[in-house]
Amino acid sequence: MARSPFIAGNWKMNTTKASAVDLANAVAAGVPAGVETGIAVPFVYIDAVAQAVAHSKLVVGAQDVYFEKAGAFTGEVSVDMLKDVGAHFVLTGHSERRHVLNEPGELVSKKAHAAYAGGLTVVHCVGEKLEERDANTTFAVVEKQLNELSTKMDNPNRVVIAYEPVWAIGTGRNATDAQAQEVHAFVRQTVAKIWNKDFADKVRIQYGGSMKPENAKGLLGQPDVDGGLIGGAALKVDSFLAIVNAAV
Ligand code: PEP
Repeated sequence: MARSPFIAGNWKMNTTKASAVDLANAVAAGVPAGVETGIAVPFVYIDAVAQAVAHSKLVVGAQDVYFEKAGAFTGEVSVDMLKDVGAHFVLTGHSERRHVLNEPGELVSKKAHAAYAGGLTVVHCVGEKLEERDANTTFAVVEKQLNELSTKMDNPNRVVIAYEPVWAIGTGRNATDAQAQEVHAFVRQTVAKIWNKDFADKVRIQYGGSMKPENAKGLLGQPDVDGGLIGGAALKVDSFLAIVNAAV
């Protein structure tokens, strides 16, 4: 089953308005054909960045969203607000939301469902902590996180699963090609059980965790790795585009 690769940069809480627009313009100018490429931008810069790259192939997204439509939710941002300023996709369940901001599985699942129902593409992150890998519970953790998501999101073009081992995020220590492939194959198998085989064959599964130009080709060459979610290396145009080009 040929799945088209999707590479997304996660800028986290970085850039200024000016540097965000410059970086987005530089990335947009170099996006090759055949690789869906996106950037998840801080909320406050989505509008400016989306306008700057509106006529390019680069897709703009957000790093989080709230599940309610509107109302007294101080500080939160809705799906409609994201769409209003030009976001097309959103990350949900990123490990920093789960483990630094302490968001439980039920909350990240509600966010994913609201985003999907509102028409955004959902990039839903799963992955184990180091102590969970060491305790041989990687599969159990990932299975639980996928089960929490349930089956209502049925368009495989608007659902992406990002497998991001927490111990590999921002640490410089990536999963090996074999470690990534092993969990990606498990994710696909689990998605087939929870959704169905056709959905599982079509859904893209990104790898995230210290992906960089030097390791991108190997990771992206694995049969069940359909792209990458890139943190640190997405903040520099050369390293991000080198990764995108490794997916061609
Ligand atoms: C991430 O933030 O999703 C990520 C994978 O970060 P890094 O590439 O810096 O490890």
